Amino acid sequence: MDFTLRTSPKLSPALKVPLAASLSVALMTTLLPLSPATASTDVPATTTISAQSLSVDSSVQIAAKKLPRDPNNINVLVNKKYPLSPKKFAPKTVAISGTDVRLKASAAKAYSSMVKAAAKDGVKIRAVSGYRSYVRQAELYNYYTRIYGQSYASKISAVPGTSEHQTGLAIDIGNKNKACGLQACFANTPVGKWAAKNAYKFGFVLRYPKGQESITGYSFEPWHFRYLGTTLAKSYKNSGAKTLEAYYGVASSTKTPAPTKTVKGTARTTANLNMRSGAGTSNRILLTIPNGKSVKLTGSKKSGWYQVTYSSKTGWVSGTYLSNISMPSKSSKAPKDSSKKSESKASKTKTAKTTANLNMRTGNGTNHRIKLTIPRGKMVTITGVKKSGWYPVKYAGRSGWVSATYLR
Ligand SMILES: [Zn+2]
Repeated sequence: MDFTLRTSPKLSPALKVPLAASLSVALMTTLLPLSPATASTDVPATTTISAQSLSVDSSVQIAAKKLPRDPNNINVLVNKKYPLSPKKFAPKTVAISGTDVRLKASAAKAYSSMVKAAAKDGVKIRAVSGYRSYVRQAELYNYYTRIYGQSYASKISAVPGTSEHQTGLAIDIGNKNKACGLQACFANTPVGKWAAKNAYKFGFVLRYPKGQESITGYSFEPWHFRYLGTTLAKSYKNSGAKTLEAYYGVASSTKTPAPTKTVKGTARTTANLNMRSGAGTSNRILLTIPNGKSVKLTGSKKSGWYQVTYSSKTGWVSGTYLSNISMPSKSSKAPKDSSKKSESKASKTKTAKTTANLNMRTGNGTNHRIKLTIPRGKMVTITGVKKSGWYPVKYAGRSGWVSATYLR
């Protein structure tokens, strides 16, 4: 092992749970300002103690709160770092009336009230997906992994045993007319807008908001709502927390760098990592790179060690403590500006980036069959001219049409 442990006030995620568990319940109760009983909508937002303002470092946050991990309780936190326990937990569920989508009875009842209230406002909500068993989630995840690879699949689909859908407390909703189903643009549809504003009144909160991807570990999902019950949902809303992770004070725990942030020729340290004068622990330590820092890769690799540049020093680090390794494209004879050249070449063959999970269809319109869904943030090649708002494109060796609205 070639990393230096420091006596940092920040605890590694692995230490958090045992520590929290070992604290006395009395202490936690004293420090816990977020219990549903003490928070109410009558309290002005300014006097509500938010999870973020509560403490200055993670160790205090841990002391302050007991993480709700009981999947039988509506307050349970489930994410990539805190999977369901037991892993194959299966709640009792009921079908939402008039659908085959299932939720826990309390959530199903609240959902039906929400649908009725929305209908009064002229907004027609459709239940898309509710409870998913461990086995079903495994099928889904494996399916996405096959299509997109594991890295992207884990951004859009949960590893079995880590999905909120398995709790029976999460529901994906859509418009009755299926507009923008399970796509980012759903946020701008009638149901997307209505739910973002009103769902909390029925005990549901938007679980994977925009801009919180590094905390939740998931892309923006304006359709995914989590039932917390009205008391907790209102407390959550009043706290000003943007994620359940922040509300419970573990906002840093699920941090997984977004794939779009991975720049060619970089990597991230996963420990306080020694940079040495050569490839191997026998070489002199030049400096210690803190955990979680981005380092530049020079492109040289030797028996598991990478040559990196950090803080204007160049040396060697063990690849064991690097993540998101993206080696620079090695073209030793090419001058420095070669990357610019290839960039301009690339822009001549017209490409565009998808701004949502985008359906590729057999023709230019939603009435045509879906061939595949291109993940958000992918580059596609535009192969022809725009036709009534649609582009012919090529992606992953397949050709079809996509709406120009979701191309940049
Ligand atoms: Zn969902």
